[in-house]
Amino acid sequence: MYVITYSLRGNQVDSDEYYNNVAIFADQVLSRAEDFFAHSIDPIVEFYSKEEEFAKEYAILDLLILGVLWKVYSGDAMGLDEIPGDMLRLLSNVRNNNDKLKPGIDFLRGIMSTVFLSPDLYDNIASIEPCMGNFDKLVSWLKATGEFNQEVKRLEGLKEYIKTLEAKDAVDLIASAITFALWFENSSEENIGEYTENVERYLNELRPKRYWHEDVIFCGRRRVEYHLNMVGAEIMNRAFKGAFIKVGKKLLLLPACMRLHPASKCKAKETEAGIMCARCSADCQVNQLTKLGSECNFGVVIVPHESSISAAVPGESVFGSDTGVIGVACVLNLISGGLKLKEMGVPAQCVLLDYCGCKNHWHDEGMPTCINVGKLKEILDI
Ligand code: SF4
Repeated sequence: MYVITYSLRGNQVDSDEYYNNVAIFADQVLSRAEDFFAHSIDPIVEFYSKEEEFAKEYAILDLLILGVLWKVYSGDAMGLDEIPGDMLRLLSNVRNNNDKLKPGIDFLRGIMSTVFLSPDLYDNIASIEPCMGNFDKLVSWLKATGEFNQEVKRLEGLKEYIKTLEAKDAVDLIASAITFALWFENSSEENIGEYTENVERYLNELRPKRYWHEDVIFCGRRRVEYHLNMVGAEIMNRAFKGAFIKVGKKLLLLPACMRLHPASKCKAKETEAGIMCARCSADCQVNQLTKLGSECNFGVVIVPHESSISAAVPGESVFGSDTGVIGVACVLNLISGGLKLKEMGVPAQCVLLDYCGCKNHWHDEGMPTCINVGKLKEILDI
């Protein structure tokens, strides 16, 4: 099979081994983080736990997000001037609030992101001081991309804690997060790197085609970011599991790229409950999962885009009460999707697409994607 960036199958026929390996590696990351941040985790947990369950896991995830994004983007962030940064953030805000303006704004964002966000300075971090001023510059850059909305919210929460520290302690904590990210990068390549080997080839050979497109940053995500999302999804699944099991109704959200046929031929229908498969093809996995849903009492809808699960009021749920959601997404959307559902208070679990292939970002024709049905059944306990 042609692998564009990642494949959870590695050299196996399915992704069963991936789910075992990522669980083992997530245990290592959590255990290593507790040693590494031995004196920092508890105060952060205390600061967070006023409003947050699983504060320790989220504290570790936040530090990991900070370290990884610092490592990948702080070089670019230092090079972003105020005026283009402000313009990009404004465009991003308008885009998020107005569907009709999206095409025009995306055209502009593609040009401006390619010119001003200069996403090519990876590893240029040795001379960047791990201070609050540079933390702010990183967050401003992330906001300008429009790609890291949920991660930015987590980093701003972490920043509130760091602001309570003495200046030297703040620098030490940021420096520790970066050092931990360096360990994570090396260790993740050893432990789960077999699933992302093609990312480097994609970045070198195919990603330049995304220049001038609005997804130039999204498609340029580095291998360590894939690993961050894989481990982040595993950690969030564990944190949400208890609440998910308790809900009465379950809803499976499938991305449009799983349809066997392109949008012009797919017969799925828009209904009050969402876009529902019309079951036109036995070979389509959306159809197979819809059948499983009707046999095992869970709903199945097709979600055209992550923004489709956003409520008119930020933080509110578009799903009914007593409903848990299983979100299916490609690796790069896992943390943002999981955090968005968490923000909405929806008990959620996620299943990863075994590989990516959508026409919007990754493949000229679009390759139908699929999931590990055994993993889905395990989550649903069927
Ligand atoms: S089986 Fe369903 S999702 Fe698949 S192509 Fe047909 S209508 Fe679309």
